[in-house]
This record gives sequence, C-alpha cells and structure tokens, in this order.
Amino acid sequence: MKQLFRETWIEVNLDAIKKNIRAFRRYIPKQTKIMAVVKANAYGHGSVGVARHALQYGATSLAVAIIEEGIVLRQAGITAPILVLGFTPLSRVKEALAWNIELSAFQVDWIKEAQKIVRASDFSGRLNIHVNMDTGMGRLGVRTKKNLLSVVKALEASPDLHWNGIFTHFSTADEADHTLTKLQHELFVNGLRYLEQHGFKLPTVHMCNTAAAIAYPDYSADMIRLGIGMYGLYPSAYIRSLNRIRLVPALSLKSRFSYVKTMLSEPYTISYGATYIAKKGEVIGTIPIGYADGYSRALSNRGFVLYKGKRMPIAGRVTMDQLMVSLGERKAKQGEEIVLYGKQEGGEITVDEIAEMLGTINYEVVATLSNRIPRLFL
Ligand code: PLP
Repeated sequence: MKQLFRETWIEVNLDAIKKNIRAFRRYIPKQTKIMAVVKANAYGHGSVGVARHALQYGATSLAVAIIEEGIVLRQAGITAPILVLGFTPLSRVKEALAWNIELSAFQVDWIKEAQKIVRASDFSGRLNIHVNMDTGMGRLGVRTKKNLLSVVKALEASPDLHWNGIFTHFSTADEADHTLTKLQHELFVNGLRYLEQHGFKLPTVHMCNTAAAIAYPDYSADMIRLGIGMYGLYPSAYIRSLNRIRLVPALSLKSRFSYVKTMLSEPYTISYGATYIAKKGEVIGTIPIGYADGYSRALSNRGFVLYKGKRMPIAGRVTMDQLMVSLGERKAKQGEEIVLYGKQEGGEITVDEIAEMLGTINYEVVATLSNRIPRLFL
C-alpha cells in the first residue's frame, strides 16, 4: 500500500468497475464497442488506474477532455486508442501526433492547418480525427449538413490525417422527455446519410453516453462513450428508475480521526465563525479533510460522516484541510476509521445524497475530489 502522508484516502473498488462494464457489455449489442471516459482524472477515481482496468474488463478505447490527460495515460504506458473529446488548439497538434492521441475536429480551417503541421513534423504516422457534429448540445461541432460535408472533404483531402470516427453528444438523454434526443438522433443520422450519398464510407459512429446507452439501446451504433455508469453512478434519477441496468458505486472516501476530545470546559466553540457551540461532555472528532480536497464547504453544519456505521453530524464550518464532527457521548479514539462517502458497518452515505444536499449532480461530487487524496485500487 502506498505511504499515506495523511490518513485520508479514496478507495476504488475494481470489482465494481468490472461489474459495471460487464453489465453494459451484456446490455448493448455485441458489435458495439465501449470507450471508457476517463477525463477529469476518471471522474475523480484516478485516471491511470481506472483506464488500465477498464481496458482489462472490456473497454477497447479511452476518452479524455484535454490532450494533457491523454499524455498522462501514454506516459503510464497505456497503448489503447485515446480520443480527446474537447477542442484542441493547433499548437498541440504535434504532441497529439507524437503521443498517438486522436483528436476531435469540426472546422475546415483547423483541419487544413493540422494537415500542414503534421506534414512538417518529424513524426511518422497519421493523425486520427473524429468529426464532431453538434445536433443540439450547442457546445462544439459542425452544425449543418453542408459544413459537415466540407469538413469531411477537407479531411479526406489531407493525406496525413485519417478520418477515424464521427460522433454527436446528447443534451437530454437522461430525461424522461425523449423529444430532443430523438430530434438530435434524426439530425445525426441525416448527416451520416448525406455523407454516404456523397460517396463517403463512414468510420466509427458513436453518440451514446451512459444515459443514452441505457435509455436508447437502438442508438448504440459502433461504440458507446461510457462515463458515469462505469463508476457505478446513474446519470439521473430518471435513468435509475428505468431499472434496466444494475450499477455498483466504485468510490469510497475514507479518513481517520486525527484528534478526539471531550468538551469539559470552555472554550466550547468549534471552527471558523464559531457557528457550532458544543455542550459540556460532548465528544468532538477532527478529520483531516476539507474543501481543498473537494469536500464542499457547503456541507458545514449539514453533512455527516459514518463512525461505526452511524451518521455523525459535521460540527461547524468545513475548513480548507480539516473538519470536525460531533460524536455525542461516544468515546471514539484518535486513528479510528470514518467514512465520508461509501459504506461502513451497515451504514451508507451515497454520493447521490451528497449531490442532492449540495444542489448539484453526482458527477461534480466525485470529479472535484482533489489530487492530494491518494487513490487506492482494491
Ligand atoms: N461523451 C462526451 C462528449 C462527454 O462530454 C461525456 C461526459 O460528459 C461523455 C461522453 C460521458 O458521459 P457520461 O459520464 O454521462 O456517460
């Protein structure tokens, strides 16, 4: 086990990741491949560890948001295809080629410039490109059939670029109203047909994130881009309610008391702002995690942790690196284990309920866990 400089850590349950990938593998058509989305440090789970195992468990390629995330994977020795989903500035094209990382593109000028850069570089091989179609996400991508055709023509006219994929991204696939997703699908398919009518043979076609893979199995195409579901979390309550696939959360956040005291005399105040006043005889535990670790300050006086399987409320404000909990009259000891997210002795705090308390989504709760917390793959 890696030396922990502070007794706060994330445990990533590899069996859960394996089960989740296998559950999708069984659910989607046989010929559909799985691209494991490991951007943002694998949604906080640790990108290299997750990527390696996801590939062992059946994913055949990886997706990241920015080229640096791809380089980290290559430096760790991962050789599977890696696609950058976001925009890559032309200044990074050479590195993409050097590290054999595939890029998304949707602009003719970008493609022409990228071709020149690749041609002028010392590296052999072609730069793989996936064309991004904007069918309603409104973020990046080609927005008209005419532009799509120009982009693909520019790509096919670039001898040092290789057209390897075409994709779109749904904006409401996790919602009960299917209207927009169906429209996005129709626009995408129309774009694909238009290219075929112009004599182009389609490369790998992909559109589904976790929500779409579950709710629209007919849209699986050649590949799904599996993110949140691989980590065992549902993209929304609606998708969970469909009851089509059983997911097992992979991440637990744990720590140990760095100090425990019984409040026998003044001062009774706890943390900044003195917003919590302990009672005489109350036991207060200090835990070495704070908002700089991605444990939200908005959980001050609201959140809780598990100690011996029971929920203990946070006392006072969450500080940058530490927080305090009230243990009532329980005689806890320094060094005893607590759980912030996950299970302990029959108790459980889910990432979903933390997200709900914070008015956000489970994605944000895990993706914002900072790099100073070690990840243990168990
Ligand atoms: N595809 C794209 C383009 C994305 O931006 C994302 C993540 O936001 C995903 C796929 C994976 O989505 P999910 O985590 O909902 O499966």
